[in-house]
Amino acid sequence: MTLDSLVRPNILRLTPYTCARNEYTGEALAWLDANENSRIDGLNRYPDPLQLEVKRRLAEIRGVTPDRIFLGVGSDECIDITYRVFCRPGIDNVVAIDPTYGMYRVCADINDVEYRTASLNDDFTVNEENLFNLVDENTKVLWMCSPNNPTGNALPIDDMLRIARRFQGITVIDEAYIDFSDKGSMVQYLDTLPRLIVMQTFSKAWASAAMRLGIAYASPEIIDIFNKVKYPYNINILTQREALNVLDRADKVAAVAKELVEARDRLASQLESLSAVKRVYASDANFLLVKVDDADALYAWLRDAGVIVRNRCRVHLCAGCLRITVGSDNENRLLIEKIEEYDRR
Ligand SMILES: *Cc1c(COP(=O)(O)O)cnc(C)c1O
Repeated sequence: MTLDSLVRPNILRLTPYTCARNEYTGEALAWLDANENSRIDGLNRYPDPLQLEVKRRLAEIRGVTPDRIFLGVGSDECIDITYRVFCRPGIDNVVAIDPTYGMYRVCADINDVEYRTASLNDDFTVNEENLFNLVDENTKVLWMCSPNNPTGNALPIDDMLRIARRFQGITVIDEAYIDFSDKGSMVQYLDTLPRLIVMQTFSKAWASAAMRLGIAYASPEIIDIFNKVKYPYNINILTQREALNVLDRADKVAAVAKELVEARDRLASQLESLSAVKRVYASDANFLLVKVDDADALYAWLRDAGVIVRNRCRVHLCAGCLRITVGSDNENRLLIEKIEEYDRR
């Protein structure tokens, strides 16, 4: 299917807002085009609407070209804009693996788009038949997340490739946790899959959740459409500057991600030795999905002890489960101590 037949007709026809900084990007002696206040220095100038410096650095690090990168206010904006570009409210639908990250459904609801869920297998791999049974001529987007939240596992690359080739709409792979995984990124397949979108974020391995910066990688054609639809100056100058600082620390970030993975594996074996813990699922992320004897009771016990974890026991396929982020050494020690106290109570 062509891209044009997937994009909402009003978006295809859209004449975007042209901001002053889009029209002229060179050096000038006098900037008198944007009604800014040139008598007070600081944040007085509009930022680069296309964030080209940030994209150039990120492109080098990730091995893509800058025209394949869209930057949003968190993955939140990347998720929402996907609905706004491809899904006609009240008509189109999307299919998502289940369980997965909650924002795909929230954004579907906000945009009045039907959200269909395809249960994962018991081992948290994708059930391709469940998934394609839900696809019809109005299914525009397929949501997968790898490593998946809250299950923690990376989906096999071969499964994702086969599904992305077979599905005639837009396949999104959310790679928020990719830097903790040794299973490889889908970014390398963007060239061969023109309807693939890969999402990443500065919120996890890059340790910049407060910055609110998310990334969508896709074909230059999709990126062009996203750029037309986004708010003209969606990424402010403070975020752009800080993103460049963070990207300069890429080596440190990779080293800390490796430390977190080692800490995760230590934490997993410590948890397995506790009697409240029934099972620790394999993780390719910086958190663990842990099946316990009584999730509500242990959750409340930990909360009252000042240790906050995520209770996922009412999530599909996650009965009895808590989701636990790998923290600092002190936080992890405290967690184990408090569960030991729970075991002895
Ligand atoms: C944490 C997380 C994100 C990050 O969202 P931001 O808006 O970038 O902070 C995205 N996707 C998944 C699956 C996550 O768990």
